[in-house]
Amino acid sequence: MQKVVILDPGHGGINPLTGQYVTPGKRSPKWGDGSVYFEGVGNRNIVELAARILVAKGVKVLYTVAPDNWKDLSLSQRVRIADSHYRSNPNAVLISVHSNGSDNPSAGGFEVFTSPGQTKSDRLADVWFKEHQKMFPDLRPRPDTRDGDLDKEAKFTIINDTKCPAILIETMFHTNAKECKILQSTNGVRDIATAIVNAVTKW
Ligand SMILES: [Zn+2]
Repeated sequence: MQKVVILDPGHGGINPLTGQYVTPGKRSPKWGDGSVYFEGVGNRNIVELAARILVAKGVKVLYTVAPDNWKDLSLSQRVRIADSHYRSNPNAVLISVHSNGSDNPSAGGFEVFTSPGQTKSDRLADVWFKEHQKMFPDLRPRPDTRDGDLDKEAKFTIINDTKCPAILIETMFHTNAKECKILQSTNGVRDIATAIVNAVTKW
């Protein structure tokens, strides 16, 4: 059976009419070189590349928000779209793509969230975790927060309210200078996308 993945690039992009990033917060500090990483824009770049590779591998790719759509759809809209994809594609899984942020500039590493009690999501989460770790052996794995933190689960509507198996990945911290450099690099985007592709194809 053809694999189906619903990709969910978190947050919004740049409104072409105003040139402004449409999501409050969800960005890096202004770095020494004047650059700022907008998470929603980065999420779209990662999703766009992952989708291209997945389609080439014969995987059917659907979106909550297409990567060329700058609008920051509400979580309830995203859930409604994901559920409608799932109704017509009952083997679909959802991956919500994010990078992490913290007031502590030394916070770093990667983590993945699932809603509690869904074995299929847990398995997909484990596969992604290992694939991401292979691509980024120097990043700190943060496995201990998985499924343990109720506040975080409550916030992540996209994995709790959707009916399909769903994971939310936090690939690294855009508030960490070293990790943000990876997010801003072509190779970094490629490696993050590759880990997503490998997780989907191996799952
Ligand atoms: Zn995010």
